[in-house]
Parts: sequence; C-alpha cells; structure tokens
Amino acid sequence: MSKKTNMYASAETWNPIKGCLFDCTYCKPSFQQQAKRQKHNCTECYEFTPHQHFERLSKIPNAEIVFVGGNGDISFADPVFVKQIIAAIVKKNLKRPNQVYYFQTKRPEYLAQFIGEFPPNVILVTTLETNRDDGYGAVSKAPPPSKRYAQFKQLEWSRKVVTVEPAMDFDVDEFTEWLISLKPEYVWLGFNSRPRSVRLPEPSKEKMLALAERLKKAGIQVRGKELWGLELEMSEASLEWTDEDIEAEARRLF
Ligand code: SF4
Repeated sequence: MSKKTNMYASAETWNPIKGCLFDCTYCKPSFQQQAKRQKHNCTECYEFTPHQHFERLSKIPNAEIVFVGGNGDISFADPVFVKQIIAAIVKKNLKRPNQVYYFQTKRPEYLAQFIGEFPPNVILVTTLETNRDDGYGAVSKAPPPSKRYAQFKQLEWSRKVVTVEPAMDFDVDEFTEWLISLKPEYVWLGFNSRPRSVRLPEPSKEKMLALAERLKKAGIQVRGKELWGLELEMSEASLEWTDEDIEAEARRLF
C-alpha cells in the first residue's frame, strides 16, 4: 500500500512495515489516532503494533521520493524483512534508478546492520527535537536525543537528513554543533503543529531563527514549514504528516 502525500508533489509513502512502540505524545493525535480507523482491515494496524505486510513488497510507488515505512519506526521491523525491502528497492532500481528512498528512525543504530546493502539512492533520516535529554522520557520512549545523535553520527553513510520537528526547547550552541557535525543534506525545522492537542516545551522563535542562521552559515540547507512567519527557505518537502495528509489517509481507508 502506498499513498500520495501533499508533503512533496512527487513523494509517496510505502508501508511494507507499520507500527511503533516509542509512543511519542505528539504521535497520538496523528498516526495513532488514524490507525484506530483500521479496525476492520488489520488489527495490528489498528493497534499500531509493529508488523509487516509482505504483500506490499512488490508495490513500490513510482514517486520520485519514497518514504519507507512512513507510518511507524522501521527499527521495530524484523531485519530479515528489511533485507527483503532493500532487495525490492535494488530490483526496482533496475527500472527506475532515479527514485530516492528515505529510511527514518529514532533508533539509528538499528540501521548500521544494513549499511553494506543500501543502494546509493537511500537517505537515512532521524528526528532530533532537541539536544536536551532532561524530561525527554515524558515525551517519548525512543532513545534520548544525546544517544540518538551519537548513534546517527556513527552511521557510515554519506546521505543523511535531520528533522527538528516538532522542535522542543534547545541550547543553541550545542544543538548547532550537533547538527553541523552530522553533515546532513538538509535540516528540516518545524514547530509543534498541534499545540492545542500536545503540549511541548517550545523553543522561542528567536532561538529557531538563530539555529537556522547558524546552520545556513555553515553551509547546511535549512527547510521549514510550521515556522510562524520566520523567514526561512521554504520547501515542498516534509518528513512529517500534515493534518491534510491524515485526513486524506482517513478518506482513503473509508
Ligand atoms: S517514533 Fe514516530 S511513529 Fe513512533 S510513536 Fe514516535 S512519532 Fe509515532
């Protein structure tokens, strides 16, 4: 199964794996809420339990950008199945070598085992909402930011992207150093898009702007969307679902 998104005109998600146990508070009103509508289709989708859909292996979208397992975290997948996912991509590359595949996880060390198998059109992605570990456990069961950063840095792969969305309050100096040292192709910046549903310790606009300016000065492309008027380079690409994406998915399912 795949779906078109409005995140990028030529991007689609491809979900041979779904579900996640990191239980991020900001995921509940989005992926996890919509998953409840799957009750009559797939119990594991409904419960957001990590699982695989073998029948989707051969159904890779033809989109320019493909988000692999966009409705979950791939680090919960069986590595044997992920190898089958990679093999399907390699096979698809014979016909459409110009597609790009995003593998995103909040546990980057999981991806290390596949480094020798990824084709060059794979981009590895992680989310770093902040550089601060204190209090992070109340937001997510994922590895805390400092561990996630260290794991992502250790991955010997030249094509990386970091998404700072939903941004949580951070220390500009340290966070800038982290992001620069990861050498990402770009950094995606975004505030919490559902402040009425989920309360997070937000950074100030000034901090976001300072972070963006320092990254740009270091030669790192900055993209953004939910930036409340901050003057950043806007892009058609996003790694997160918007309300419109979720509504579209709900309409597709029912
Ligand atoms: S890691 Fe991603 S999929 Fe998993 S709970 Fe958090 S936001 Fe949802």
